[in-house]
Amino acid sequence: MQQDIFTMGVDIGSSASKCIIMKNGDTIVAKSLASVGAGTSGPEKAINEVLHQFGGDLSQISWICATGYGRNSLKEANKEVSELSCHAKGAHFLFPGVKTVIDIGGQDVKALHMDGTGRLLNFVMNDKCAAGTGRFLDVMSRVLETKISDLAQEGAKSTKKVTISSTCTVFSESEVISHLANNETIPDVINGIHRSVASRIAGLAKRVGVEAPVVMTGGVASNFEVVRYVSEELNVPIATSPLSQYNGAIGAAIYAFEAYHHQLEDDALTIGTLK
Ligand code: ADP
Repeated sequence: MQQDIFTMGVDIGSSASKCIIMKNGDTIVAKSLASVGAGTSGPEKAINEVLHQFGGDLSQISWICATGYGRNSLKEANKEVSELSCHAKGAHFLFPGVKTVIDIGGQDVKALHMDGTGRLLNFVMNDKCAAGTGRFLDVMSRVLETKISDLAQEGAKSTKKVTISSTCTVFSESEVISHLANNETIPDVINGIHRSVASRIAGLAKRVGVEAPVVMTGGVASNFEVVRYVSEELNVPIATSPLSQYNGAIGAAIYAFEAYHHQLEDDALTIGTLK
């Protein structure tokens, strides 16, 4: 009987560190998330937590792949892989046949156009401006004194359309404060924020050419109101998964499995040549 191979994917984002351990490149056996990212203790915390869940230690992990904004900083990694490649790989694992992936993280938005077999055809990315990213929602949730995980539920209670017209996070923050000073309700203001974020995300996605099936990944995919408004703007259903925020780490763990096998093949070739 063949021995199981365990690999780890670590996605060190701008806002959160995500870790996945996979068995044989096709089964998730442990996952962890630390809500701080690159340049913090987040990656170490996430690795310790995922190993705890796994019930083992690093010596049992055959290969580790790092991805995300802080991927260069992980000394335990055997390999670094770009975020785009990992998100494409992860999305095809979570949603086989997917053609468009909209990933909204803490600092950037990516739209990936894929061929339905896991191959990336094209992408567009915004990493220059916070509007339309998780950071925009993080800033607003602080102003509104509402937890990021409660924004969707609160926004869904809205009964009146409030518009956030500024395209800049800093000016939008002032607009939100002024709406609150004018006695607009928190749910109505949150709803305005969600529609504003969704319209920026949809605008970026349109540039890559949206083709169904469409999925949303990244932390913001947990906000069902943002997903709903992007879906309405693009006029296409959008699928999400409870594992959406782990998408990059899942892709990295699969890359780790493939890299481990390539290395075995290379070793076998070298031994064959030496013989
Ligand atoms: P990164 O990889 O850049 O660190 P993530 O994909 O981990 O980004 O997403 C982080 C963002 O997700 C945060 O900035 C926050 O806005 C959003 N987020 C995190 N948790 C939740 C949640 N429970 N509900 C809604 N949004 C969330």
